[in-house]
Amino acid sequence: MSDYKSCLGCGIGKNLEEFKKDKRATLGVTSRCINCINRMARESYARDPKKKLEKNALWTAQNLQKHREMNRANGFRNKNKRLLASRLWYLENKDRHLENGKQWSLNNPEARLLISINRRARKIQNGVFSISSKEVRNLLSALCAYCTIKPSAHLDHVIPISRGGVTSIGNLIGSCALCNQSKGNKTISEWRKVG
Ligand SMILES: [Zn+2]
Ligand SMILES: [Zn+2]
Repeated sequence: MSDYKSCLGCGIGKNLEEFKKDKRATLGVTSRCINCINRMARESYARDPKKKLEKNALWTAQNLQKHREMNRANGFRNKNKRLLASRLWYLENKDRHLENGKQWSLNNPEARLLISINRRARKIQNGVFSISSKEVRNLLSALCAYCTIKPSAHLDHVIPISRGGVTSIGNLIGSCALCNQSKGNKTISEWRKVG
């Protein structure tokens, strides 16, 4: 058995590894070498790009399942690549990252509050209900619901989460820092008794 085959395209005798596998062909490889096959594909694409697109579309239609799997695998690879890239960026720009975070926090006080109350609620696992930044902004735009004197700076859980209260728009109220701290884990009536 010869390890060489002469390519029908370029006429050069080449090692079998330089051909594509084809069980039905002589010696189990294509009659043209990989170089020639690629070159012919390039030339054919240059002559008629549409044909290639049509062929691809046809292949996709006939191999939907495989197409999906390939896409998924690609997406997975790309996701890892993205994660790695952002991780690298973070390591190289740690200071800038922190600065960006600080700046973002300053620019987005409602979102920041939202993140912190969601984190707290998730820890206790009473359930978190979807609240929008706009709803938070509305709560904060009113005066403190308790003293009605100072502007709202905190989001207070009317029924504290430690007492089973949930993080939902119905259980949140804008309050000043002082009232929020003083109320702590008490319900409103408990707090009134103390105060
Ligand atoms: Zn060739
Ligand atoms: Zn207050």
